[in-house]
Amino acid sequence: MSDGTITILVVEDEVAIRDMIGMSLERAGFQWLPAGSTEEARRQLVDKAPDLMLLDWMLPGTSGLDFAKQLRRDDSTRDLPVIMLTARDAEEDMIRGLEGGVDDYLTKPFSTRELIARIKTVLRRAGGADETPITLGPLTLEPSSHRVRAGQQKIELGPTEYRLLQFFMRHPERVYAREQLLDRVWGRNVYIDDRTVDVHIRRLRKALEPHQAAGLIQTVRGAGYRFSTQS
Ligand code: CA
Repeated sequence: MSDGTITILVVEDEVAIRDMIGMSLERAGFQWLPAGSTEEARRQLVDKAPDLMLLDWMLPGTSGLDFAKQLRRDDSTRDLPVIMLTARDAEEDMIRGLEGGVDDYLTKPFSTRELIARIKTVLRRAGGADETPITLGPLTLEPSSHRVRAGQQKIELGPTEYRLLQFFMRHPERVYAREQLLDRVWGRNVYIDDRTVDVHIRRLRKALEPHQAAGLIQTVRGAGYRFSTQS
């Protein structure tokens, strides 16, 4: 399921703290990815498309705050929930952090319980927007009713095609490899062939075809698939 496994990217240069956070996340049922710098974080964002990022303020090179601002300027990462970890507790700094587009912050040292509670709150807030209908190009998808329309016409989709389309419409203009789609749409612990993705992409395009919308699902040679309203 697209929402079955939550993956959290932990950007922290101090390995001991990072691993401790990672262990807490695992115990709470989250998957996690480590990054020791903003460069590593960038690679993980592209490769793994995590659901949330814990971002340390004090990092070598680019600071966590500057990195968060960069991500907010980028279409593909603008909506990624970010919780800033900071050793500073000066109020002014926190306000500056929040103005930079950080969803929440935690001052070190924090308890595991507090960390997990904040993560759940931020995810809930981010997920709350998920009930809002998404309109892109000719298509409107209503997550609350699982309906998809092109104008006034209803489009019938199988459950997998629906999840696939929902994932694409929530992450438009980005290329996803087959393995990434398997992870995000089918779930990480499902062992199925990459070609299964192609089968469902074909079915999805076929369902969209009568509505002149099949071209929204684009094949990017050697890379994967992309939902795009630009041809
Ligand atoms: Ca640090």
